Amino acid sequence: MRQRIRIALLIFSFVLMPVTFVYISCPLITEGASQGIATGGLLVFTLLFIGSLFVGRLWCGYLCPAGGLQEIYARINGKPVTAGWLNYLKYPVFLGIFGSIALAVYSAGGLWVFDPFYQTGNGISIDRPGAYTLLYGQIVFITVFALLAGRRGFCHTFCPIAVMLIIGRKIRNLVKWPALRLAADAERCVDCGRCSRACPMSLDVHGMVRDGRMENTECILCGECVDTCPEGAVGYAWRGRP
Ligand code: SF4
Ligand code: SF4
Repeated sequence: MRQRIRIALLIFSFVLMPVTFVYISCPLITEGASQGIATGGLLVFTLLFIGSLFVGRLWCGYLCPAGGLQEIYARINGKPVTAGWLNYLKYPVFLGIFGSIALAVYSAGGLWVFDPFYQTGNGISIDRPGAYTLLYGQIVFITVFALLAGRRGFCHTFCPIAVMLIIGRKIRNLVKWPALRLAADAERCVDCGRCSRACPMSLDVHGMVRDGRMENTECILCGECVDTCPEGAVGYAWRGRP
């Protein structure tokens, strides 16, 4: 039931993308910042980062519209991602995009205005001809990576938001304050491998359980492994250490 609700939330979030995409669009955040405007997108990014300090990449697992689109594409190309070095492409992409935002803020002499509805009509992203171009551009991008790389290919290879959340998660791990994590009991594991096959991020969850290392930067805390394990060997936990 939890997984059905999760997939429904993700797909609903994708369907809402014509309304919401301005709030997760890096180019529009940069454009606003270059005029000294703190946009709604910048506020959303800030909230996502703060959230990642406590719930890691839960956003990716339950609410991201790009995740919803990729859940649909996983029915077409559901092969596990074994992209190797391509997994690291998202880090220079993150540096390029977030570096541009920082540069835009610097050139504007700071952020002087807060406009949560920047480039929207009454808060809705698509309110005029031409606005679709940006949305379609983002969808094409996600499509190419998801269809070529495999299951959640865009998350693995290109998404700068993923890197932002990974940084939040690393800080959390460093400080070790209580946060949402995966926990496992290796003694219960019967080595069936179902958790690894179910993982949308193509992680070797079985190996993680056996090694007692449930912390993985690519884990989106979706809970597929939790709900798939027939022995209840994997679960969610709220604790300070992995
Ligand atoms: S390890 Fe489990 S919670 Fe993490 S992404 Fe894979 S299935 Fe989801
Ligand atoms: S699904 Fe559960 S029992 Fe099967 S390999 Fe994974 S942790 Fe072990």
